[in-house]
Amino acid sequence: QQFSQVLEKASMGSELTKEDIVTLLQALPGEEEEQLFQLADKVRRENHGDAVHLRGIIEFSNYCRNDCHYCGLRRSNKDLKRYRIPMEEIIEAARYAAALGYGTIVLQAGEDPYYSGEQLADMIRRVKEVGDFAVTVCVGERSREDYELMRKAGADRYLLKHETADPELFAQMRPGTSFEERIKRLNWLRELGFQVGSGNMIGLPGQTVETLAEDILLLKELDVEMAGIGPFIPHHQTPLKDCGPGDLKLTLKALAVARLVLPLAHLPATTAVGTLHPEGRKLALSCGANVIMPNLSPATYRQMYQIYPEKAGSKEDADESHERITTLVKEMGRQISTGRGDSPKEHFKN
Ligand code: SAM
Ligand code: SF4
Repeated sequence: QQFSQVLEKASMGSELTKEDIVTLLQALPGEEEEQLFQLADKVRRENHGDAVHLRGIIEFSNYCRNDCHYCGLRRSNKDLKRYRIPMEEIIEAARYAAALGYGTIVLQAGEDPYYSGEQLADMIRRVKEVGDFAVTVCVGERSREDYELMRKAGADRYLLKHETADPELFAQMRPGTSFEERIKRLNWLRELGFQVGSGNMIGLPGQTVETLAEDILLLKELDVEMAGIGPFIPHHQTPLKDCGPGDLKLTLKALAVARLVLPLAHLPATTAVGTLHPEGRKLALSCGANVIMPNLSPATYRQMYQIYPEKAGSKEDADESHERITTLVKEMGRQISTGRGDSPKEHFKN
């Protein structure tokens, strides 16, 4: 297939097939890549304007019962000092977010069974008392009852990345878990009325450009309100320590194609792309992304939330992260959004 024909088709807003997506993901360096990125940037502007939404993230526990091959928080990593942030400090971080004008707080953690559904619900309630935030929860796979408790406590959104649309690779990378169970939960979250976020990593060993096309088609099928697409970055205390990181250009191309396929979705310029390359987040914002997730975790905990090493911002405090990100957005001639940044889909409008 000709790249230019597929790009033309995408620019008309026609539905893209798997083959089309593969063609776009194989855009050649130079003119083809440039055209793809420009179209994604245009589609972003038409659907979301120039505002960049900031989602302040609090990484409240690094305990995890899982053993994902790619992640530094995996339970077999015995060298990692584990922590749980006390509730008062979580509230303190939320107050700080309110002072900075953030519209969304993301509560993220490893899969930590220490917290009951009730406790998570209580955390959500208390954070929501601090300000007029939307709350996104990202704590992995839980029971349907727990998700329901969280939703009733006021959680607005839930982020559960599908990680890879290849069920075999999924099972290999996440021992003891299955792709089917993951998707089942994404469907529950939808039924419970959450704004649903999912997404995948770029560059897992064994991944192909066809798998990547399936990742994007799955996001479309799930009709996600948010899609986190970022590079895999190896961590020295994991089984994938000798693998190379995901490719920057391929990550940007996947992001751009996701923008074409999901014009209404929120797409973050991920911390991982900012870690892979000093200009990573800026580049991502230029080819479809419209969200950044600054870290609000107190500085003492940041270094211990080592999903992968040298995570962008892990040596800063919340003030510095905020400052650096707002400067970046302004330098690009874009604005920081002031609202909650809900999905622009009709039924999620506040
Ligand atoms: N434990 C929950 C879960 O797995 O859904 C939430 C926290 S987990 C640390 C958040 C995300 O980190 C995962 O969805 C995964 O995509 C990402 N992640 C983990 N290890 C990574 C790595 N080495 N490189 C890039 N992203 C990684
Ligand atoms: Fe745990 Fe999530 Fe890391 Fe897997 S990706 S080890 S579930 S924190």
